Parts: sequence; C-alpha cells; structure tokens
Amino acid sequence: MNLQFFKQSASVLTILAAVSGLAVAPPTAHAQNGDDQQIEWNLADLYPSLDAWNAERERINAEIQTVAQYEGTLGNSAQSLLTAFDAISAINKEGARVFIYASLGGDEDLRNAEGQERLSLARSMFASLGQATAFIAPEILAIGEETIEQYIADERGLAKHAFQLRDILRQKQYTLGGEAESVLANAGEVLGGPQRIYSLLSTAAIPWPKVTLSSEQVVTLNQAAYTRYRAVQNREDRKKVFDAFWNTWKTYEAPFGQTLDTLVKTHIFTAKSRGYENSLDQAVSNSNVPTDVYRALVKAANDNLPSMHRYLKLRQRMMGLPDLHYYDIYPETTQLEKEFSVEEAKRLTLESLQPFGEEYLTLLEDGLNADWMHVYPQPGKRSGAYMQGAGYDVHPYVLLNYNKGFEDVSTFSHEWGHAVHTLLARANNPYETYSYTTFTAELASTTNEVLLQEFMLAKDLSDEERLYYIDRALEGIRGTFFRQTMFAEFELKIHELAEAGEALSGRRMTEIYLDLLKKYHGHDEGVMNIDEAYAIEWAYIPHFYFNFYVYQYATSISGGTMFAERMLAGDETARDDYINTLKAGGSQYPHPLLQSAGVDLTSEEPYTTLISRMNRLMDEAETILDRMGK
Ligand SMILES: [Zn+2]
Repeated sequence: MNLQFFKQSASVLTILAAVSGLAVAPPTAHAQNGDDQQIEWNLADLYPSLDAWNAERERINAEIQTVAQYEGTLGNSAQSLLTAFDAISAINKEGARVFIYASLGGDEDLRNAEGQERLSLARSMFASLGQATAFIAPEILAIGEETIEQYIADERGLAKHAFQLRDILRQKQYTLGGEAESVLANAGEVLGGPQRIYSLLSTAAIPWPKVTLSSEQVVTLNQAAYTRYRAVQNREDRKKVFDAFWNTWKTYEAPFGQTLDTLVKTHIFTAKSRGYENSLDQAVSNSNVPTDVYRALVKAANDNLPSMHRYLKLRQRMMGLPDLHYYDIYPETTQLEKEFSVEEAKRLTLESLQPFGEEYLTLLEDGLNADWMHVYPQPGKRSGAYMQGAGYDVHPYVLLNYNKGFEDVSTFSHEWGHAVHTLLARANNPYETYSYTTFTAELASTTNEVLLQEFMLAKDLSDEERLYYIDRALEGIRGTFFRQTMFAEFELKIHELAEAGEALSGRRMTEIYLDLLKKYHGHDEGVMNIDEAYAIEWAYIPHFYFNFYVYQYATSISGGTMFAERMLAGDETARDDYINTLKAGGSQYPHPLLQSAGVDLTSEEPYTTLISRMNRLMDEAETILDRMGK
C-alpha cells in the first residue's frame, strides 16, 4: 500500500547535494560548533524506550501475519473492503512510526552497529508488509471500477481510501492478465540488476586516483574528496582534480555504458509490455504528471540558455579569470565572513516567511521551539540535511549539519519548509492522503529559499555582502534549474534513441553528454571551454538510475519562484493558493493541484518568471561590480 514515506525517509536534499554541482563552501569555512552544545531531537516522542520500540515492532510483525485473511474478501461488500483497508492502513501508519524511530536513531551515528541493526529489522518488517499486501491492487482491478465506485458511494468510511482505490483503478489499462503479470513480477529481480551493478561499480570497484595538490598535500580522490577539492580556490589544483578524477572514470566508459544501456532497456521493456506510449510516459504516470511538463521544462531551459551563458560570463568576471573552463564551475566566487547562530537562523526563517501569514508562522514557531531537530555535525552522523515527516501521529523531525554559514541558514529554512508542509498536510487530511509526492515536496522548500534570499537583499548591505546573496541565488538557479534540466534532457535523449532502435554504447553516451555540456555552457559561443575529457561525467550521476527523477528539482524551483514572486509583489490570492497547495497533501494529483493554484508547469510562465528573476539579479550584480571597479 502506501509506502511513500520510504521515499521521504532519505531526503531529497541529501540526494540533490551529491550531484547538484552547487558551489558548496568547504567544510572548514566556518567555525565548528566547538563551544555549542549539541541540540538534539527527542525520540521519546515516538517511543519512551528501546524496549517499547521493540515491543511495538513485534506487535506490528504479528499484525502483518494477519493481513492474509483479507485476501479474496475485498469484493464481498463495501463493509469488508473498509475493514481490510482500515486494518492495513493502521499497520502502515504504526509501521512507519517504528521505521522512523530506527532510521532517525541510526542517523545520529552511522558507525553504531546496533542502530544499523535496528534499521535493518524495520526494513525487513516493511518488506514483509509489502509482500503481504501485494494481492490488493490485482484484486481491486478484478473487482472493477463500477463496483468499487458503488462501494465508495454506499460506505462513507471509504471516503478516506477513495483516492488510493481510484489510483489503483487508474492503472487498469496498463495492467496485464494474471499470467503476464506474474511473469513481470518474476522478472523484477533481474530488471533491478543495472542499479545493483551500478552502485557496486561506482562506489566499491573503482581504484581512486591520488593527486598531489599545490600545498604538497596528497589526496585520494574518492567521490567525497572530489566534491570537496573540485571547489578549491587554486585553479591548477582544480584542474588536477578534474583531470585525475575523470580520467579514472573514463577507464570504465564501456562497462558504465553497458550498465546504463541495460537500465534503459529495462524501462523500455516494462513500458512496452504494459502498453505505455514510451518509457517517459510510464515514469511520470506514477504521480500522474503529463509528459508535457517534462517537455515544457526541457524547452524552457533551451530557450533561456542565453541567461545561463550570461551567468557564466558573470562568474568569470567575479573570479577575475582570463577564460572559463568546466573546472571553474564549483569554487565560490564571493565569500561572507559572517556567522549565523541557530537562534539567528530561526529568527531569519520566521522573519523572511512573514508573507505566508499567521497560520503557517504559528506552526513554524511552535515547531522551532520544540525538540524536533538534531542540529550540529558530530562524529558518525549522517551528512546533509533532511526532514522526516512519516510520523503521522507524532510530528516532523529535522536533521541538519548546521555549520553557521549562510548556506546553513538557507538549508535550515528549506527543511523547515518541508516540516510545515507536513504539519499543514497532516492537519487537513487523514493518514491515507496526507503524504505528498516529490513533485510538490520541493516547492515547499524552494519557495522558502527564495523568500530568504529576497529578505536578505531587502536589507541595507555592503556591496560585498549583497553580491554574496545574489551569487548564492544565481548559483541555486544554475545548479537546480539548468543543470538538473541538462540531466533530464540527457535521460530523455538516451531513452528516445534506444526506443528508436539506435545502439547505445558508453562512447555514444559520452558524445551525447558532451554535446549537452557544450550547449548548456556555451562552448560554441566562447562562454566556457568544455574539455572533452570531462564528458564522461554522465557515468558519475547516480540519478540516471532513478528513472526520470531529476526534472522535479527544476520544476520545483520554477514553481516555487513563481509563488514567491507573486507573494512579494503583493498578490493577495498567492498566499492562499500556496497554503492550500500545502494543505492538500496527497489528496490530489500534483499537476492539477498546482494548476488550480495558478502554476501550470506545462506553460512557459513559471520558467519565464524564474528567468526574469535571474536576469534581474544579474543586472544588480553587474551594477555592483561596475561600482566596485571589478
Ligand atoms: Zn528538500
């Protein structure tokens, strides 16, 4: 049934940070929390003790064993359908609570074997729930739309399950006969092969190169070291890091190509078997998003490449470089010496989100004053940041690695945007429909980032500080809109080529990726030199194994910017539209939900709004640079 919280449990932001290519301050840029006491979340809100957690886990495991009794009963009557769905829903809800206790506790120190063991117990609990409930969808489809609709009309209690029931029925045209479904189910393990091979190959199998930096320091360039050292200020070091890292990946061009090609073919195989138009159609149909959204996004990014190129030229000017290479894309162009305490982050978040109004702000303030956050880095703690909102009867939890830079304030506001989204969705929906999709999730966070940037820029600032915030905003647009759309375009292209019967090798993928890198970064226009050696980058992007996932980052920053701009311009309906979108949770499909709030992601408007903001910020940056004589 609804296992959506699994997707939420690993934060979208954590995943994004790994490949977004956002320039990130090196970890030493700000003081560590030397004197600051760790601020911890209170997991006792979930269970008073480990024993209580264990007892509950065992109870849920026993409950899962009882699910089999409902098989074959769903079509007996409206009442029996309700009984089964209520029971399974309760197991899901309580199971989620068991899961997040283990997951949050484990993330405090990943080195703790007992914590990881608890997580694996919770995972296997959910795996058995998944198996126990596998009969539901085929059984609902066999009962058929007419009877199910009659049951929903007859039994008021089914109202909270209606969305899910209809969502299952929606899949009817893509559902095959019993024999064919069973063949596809049996093929599942095989079809999952490319992901498994990729994750082994990309993390464990590669002998990482060593480089000696100008400081004589010898660095082993694994994935984490690469993300750190690609952003250093010394240009020769950056080039050295790029050359060594991508040369190593290049050695594996053929096997990575074979792996990705096989993945693409599994997508085509299932899409064809189920009668989807193509693999994109199947991928976006999960959230019932029209493929037009995807195509409108790719077109918008292409139409607006001149703004991307203008930004790269601006970056070159700020860095004072004679020319620009792909290895110049990560270092910060401006620095801000300021530190922001956690109390300041709270205050800035509350103040910058004033346009949201009292209902939102009350929820936010209550949350900030409660023990819902794990704030500072500590040894063994999971890196990045996320919000965990799967505890329907409890409250959201937020994990941060707060380091006192402005980026940390931005992340703070981002994650609390997810938290308040969850609170609003929870308050306005039963458990069954409160959980929102990824497609809407990142709206609730990116809007906050935009409002924070604009709030800072509205202050009386020195030129240096103003330039810093402008640059952060521009980097966000480059990394989240242009770069993610470039990935989305690559993903679409390799699927379309394979669907047209073309052979895809690693070498061919490198050619396609090189063309995209050149186009997005203005190679032919003399904006940025794209060295061919770096076009193996596609092999490093794990998101290509998520099946048309990254486009949602780009649509979210566009939709979020549109909401923020409308609110800042004093559009009074914008706030209600926004809050109502958050309140809807998962009770509607995301695309029509956003359309009814005035954000139509199949149209040009959200994208042109984002680009207008980008151009406005660049105008201001250029004026400041002129004034500074840079
Ligand atoms: Zn997020």
